[in-house]
Amino acid sequence: MNNNLILKNGSRIAIIGGGPGGSFFAHFASRYAKEAGIDVSIKIFDKKSFCQRGPRGCNMCAGVISENLFNSLEEEGINIADFCVQRKIEGYCFQTQDESVVLHHPIPGHIPKIVTVFRGNGPLQSEHEGNVSFDDYLLNHVRAQGVEIISDMVKDFRLSVRKGEPVKVICGERNSEHEFEADLVVGAFGVNTGMMEKVANMGFGYRPPKTVRTCQCEIILNREYIEETFGNNIFVFALGKSELKFASITPKADYVTVNLVGRKDLTRNNLVDFLDHPTVKKLMPAKWRIPNSFCMCISKIPITYAKHPYADRFVVLGDASISRSYKSGIESAFNMAKMSAYTAFKNGVSAKSFMNGYFKPAKRLLARDNLYGIMMLKINDYISSNRQLVNRQVKLVKSTDDVKTASQINEILWNMLTGNVPYKEIFVKALNLRLISKTLSFNPLSWIRKKSGNYSNVN
Ligand SMILES: Cc1cc2nc3c(=O)[nH]c(=O)nc-3n(C[C@H](O)[C@H](O)[C@H](O)COP(=O)(O)OP(=O)(O)OC[C@H]3O[C@@H](n4cnc5c(N)ncnc54)[C@H](O)[C@@H]3O)c2cc1C
Repeated sequence: MNNNLILKNGSRIAIIGGGPGGSFFAHFASRYAKEAGIDVSIKIFDKKSFCQRGPRGCNMCAGVISENLFNSLEEEGINIADFCVQRKIEGYCFQTQDESVVLHHPIPGHIPKIVTVFRGNGPLQSEHEGNVSFDDYLLNHVRAQGVEIISDMVKDFRLSVRKGEPVKVICGERNSEHEFEADLVVGAFGVNTGMMEKVANMGFGYRPPKTVRTCQCEIILNREYIEETFGNNIFVFALGKSELKFASITPKADYVTVNLVGRKDLTRNNLVDFLDHPTVKKLMPAKWRIPNSFCMCISKIPITYAKHPYADRFVVLGDASISRSYKSGIESAFNMAKMSAYTAFKNGVSAKSFMNGYFKPAKRLLARDNLYGIMMLKINDYISSNRQLVNRQVKLVKSTDDVKTASQINEILWNMLTGNVPYKEIFVKALNLRLISKTLSFNPLSWIRKKSGNYSNVN
């Protein structure tokens, strides 16, 4: 290990971004510093104030905290405060144009620990008291560990020219710009920032992940109405809309969050089109009209992973680096923050340490699994785009005659929607000839037999 490239007493860590990636890194860095008996200074830079309502104070997301993350947070002593929790989720309602079914945790009787939150301090027009922001809660948690939160944006930074030298970080606005040195800079700046391009232009090999623009909005509804209609279920839609990859309505306390992810960039029109769909309208109160103005945002989601997200004294994590495709981004940020912080404290802060201790294992964990995810999503797209097939799938889950098939499909869909288990595990379970023949109403074995029969007849 290069002695210059290790963290020691007095080392300075600058984290760019106060979203989950930045807070989780700060949490683990504080923990590993304490375990190593060294005193380091940790600063998180973010200009965004999560006390504000609406998109300005929000890191724009559906706000579903997965069960795996909930459990991991508890293990770390981070117990999400009740004031952040908008709703405890028990199931997912899979809704087609004609049918719907509520999916449950595959273990009968198990109540999943899934909760919904607001990332910022709630929708633009909300009138609650206090601050309910999940991201702010995480920042307060690390502040209590001694991490300093600086309300400023990082404009730029310059990596060490000579091995061992610190990184120069420039922050502040034009007139109040100032420069300081850091022994480690952590890029937790997400994908909705120009910082990705800046880092890509530094020439050490970083390439940001590809992204698509998603569309979301918050709709205010009567609390009792949400309770009666949505209950504690997240609604996921298969409406045969080819432009959409994923569409959901997530219930909160007084709002529902509508969340659309497309194959390509989405716009407000896609949102209006979705809200206008008869199946969606049926879920809304009678005479409900799309409001003229509502809290909405267009935010990016990564669809590939970054290349070379590390250099000497610099590491990128969270959305700007590598995460699980289309699912549980906050959980990925947690896992990657843990791996990169562990590497920084145990193996040092050189590019080589980050490559071996963080990025290679991260790719083994996520990149390969995402390939299975892509295959599963394609199968799901195929079924969802065919009205007959998707209805058949719902009927099979509802069936009381064939309980085995019902619970197998429930498990596959549950795991796809919650991200509870790796995509590979879901893929292996789905590769079941009996299940395929039931779902597609097609028997692969007899098809193969027929084909080989035809073939031998020809010969
Ligand atoms: C539509 C949508 C729905 C989603 N739903 C869910 C969900 O339900 N559950 C889930 O787990 N994940 C969800 N995600 C994914 C989740 O939002 C991300 O994975 C997660 O926010 C990534 O955290 P991060 O810290 O890497 O980045 P971010 O949360 O984007 O945080 C980055 C922070 O960096 C700050 N920043 C940027 N540039 C600078 C700079 N130059 N200086 C200082 N600060 C800077 C920003 O202000 C921001 O606060 C969703 C994503 C989208 C797009």
